[in-house]
Amino acid sequence: MTEKIIPNKERLKSIEDNFKAINERIANAAAAANRNVQDVRLMAVTKTVESVYINHAIGLGANLIGENRVQEYLGKKDELMLDGVERHLIGHLQTNKVKQIVGEVDMIESVDSVKLAKEISRVSAIKGLTTNILVEVNVGKEASKSGIYAEELEELLIEISQMENIKIKGLMTIPPICESQAEAGRYFEAMHRAFADIKDKRLPNIDMDILSMGMSGDFEEAVKHGSNIVRVGSAIFGARKYF
Ligand SMILES: *Cc1c(COP(=O)(O)O)cnc(C)c1O
Repeated sequence: MTEKIIPNKERLKSIEDNFKAINERIANAAAAANRNVQDVRLMAVTKTVESVYINHAIGLGANLIGENRVQEYLGKKDELMLDGVERHLIGHLQTNKVKQIVGEVDMIESVDSVKLAKEISRVSAIKGLTTNILVEVNVGKEASKSGIYAEELEELLIEISQMENIKIKGLMTIPPICESQAEAGRYFEAMHRAFADIKDKRLPNIDMDILSMGMSGDFEEAVKHGSNIVRVGSAIFGARKYF
């Protein structure tokens, strides 16, 4: 992925059109939900996307990018124009990769166990920094997905909140694949409720500021249900090719 590639002009143009269209659709969804469009951030999900196209999106105004894999991100980051761009890790993180990613991203959205949080805390302390995290919730209770169940959420949050050098900023979820946006909406609604419940409790050292949910196929529905980061990949960059 590091070899120089000649950007495809048509693809650059379609990224431009897509980026603009997605922003408009977010604005419309926010307006329809009586929400302020400034309260919803668009994350450009850049997994499998070559650096030249990511940089193009950054040039268009993308100021938040999400990567899934530690190795892929570390391989690409030196080619990216990251000035003023926030970087989040959104993919499942193995404990043995924590050392490599802490300090390289602004947030880890996919924390789903005490063990992982402990390792992030430990490595962050060694590096002398605090790592912002979201806790990933498996809202559809799917065996194939990571994330914790909503019933375990409060206990896990409280346990993590007592660790040093790690700061909880909110929640992230990937709902089950749904037939329609309306069906996804039921999961988003449940997530929003869990998020609001925790927020209302004002637990010490737990910020419930960020609710990260909604992807290419359902971000409008997520905005309707309180999402403030929508993570959009293929609708910006086109269908993914896996290497
Ligand atoms: C790939 C991915 C996305 C974006 O998916 P699209 O359907 O391409 O928009 C969002 N969140 C996570 C965690 C992902 O892995």
